[in-house]
Amino acid sequence: HHTLGEHISDWDEKRAAYKSEESSNQHHGKPRILMVSGSQPKPCDNAKGDYFILKNLKNKVDYCRLHNIEIFYNMAQLDKKMSGFWSKLPLLRILMLSHPEVEWIWWMDSDAFFTDMKFELPLENYENYNMVVHGWYDMIYEKQSWVGLNTGSFLIRNCQWTLDLLDAWAPYGPSGKPREEAGHLFAKYLRGRPDFESDDQSALIYLLLAQKERWAEKTYLENSYFLHGYWVILVENFEKMMEKYHPGLGDERWPFVTHFVGCKPCHGHSGDYAPDRCAEQMERAFNFADNQVLEAYGYVHPNLHTESVEKVTQAGMDTRHPNLRSGSH
Ligand code: UDP
Ligand code: MN
Repeated sequence: HHTLGEHISDWDEKRAAYKSEESSNQHHGKPRILMVSGSQPKPCDNAKGDYFILKNLKNKVDYCRLHNIEIFYNMAQLDKKMSGFWSKLPLLRILMLSHPEVEWIWWMDSDAFFTDMKFELPLENYENYNMVVHGWYDMIYEKQSWVGLNTGSFLIRNCQWTLDLLDAWAPYGPSGKPREEAGHLFAKYLRGRPDFESDDQSALIYLLLAQKERWAEKTYLENSYFLHGYWVILVENFEKMMEKYHPGLGDERWPFVTHFVGCKPCHGHSGDYAPDRCAEQMERAFNFADNQVLEAYGYVHPNLHTESVEKVTQAGMDTRHPNLRSGSH
């Protein structure tokens, strides 16, 4: 049967030996994080799809540069059977094994944008956990809902527990019979789930429920800020947020991540939402974030609908840049 590779059972020891030999797992005083994202190997069917994938990658590069996080972007299909949203599993495993110096690996979908460029992960809260995913306890364990968590943005610790989780997760992914059968199983077992081929999100919820004693204790369900934020409830409010609040909050006042779940800009019309609505709102989310980047250089998108920028007036720059104020030198 299909696996992610040869079984490994002593990764914690191997990794510890590597760390003491080679390098510290600290980077700028914090545990090393590797941001990972990716998209399909071929051009999108829809011309605008590649444009949004590029914008999304720029958005991630900006956040990672500002916060000293390294980034790996994948466009190769490493495992023929683990296609589509399942491609993250073999990728995450190979990155864990190839980067023992990295403590956390952070997967983020190519349709999830950083919308708070200032917010930082509260890593100290996750010390006793091996996985961090946006979700709610009651939605998963009481309601068995298939949207009780979202796998568009999550963190895994580089350790044996995570390798074991990937091994338990992967059997639901191979294309063909396993993926079809698991799809039916999840549709029966999880509340609200339509009967389609199995997805990595349903499989993770299924594991948390079916093998709770094995996985639940080390899985942190985050909902105090938007590690993943459902775009539909956020994008109409960007202007109000800009009036009332400021970056660095990460929650509904200034969402950390805005994830375009159900939009399929790469595949034209196959999504759950009108492509025009998705495109318009992705542009707005990108510009909302880009303003937080451009500010440091004295530029701004005059409104969130336009890709064009304007120079911020000198007076405006004075207040934004302490080092430019007259008399400060
Ligand atoms: N993806 C990938 N390679 C592929 C197809 C998808 O790396 O060949 C990634 C991509 O980052 C995408 C993610 O898998 O964002 C999950 O798919 P999608 O965002 O379409 O699912 P949704 O969030 O809408 O459920
Ligand atoms: Mn997505």
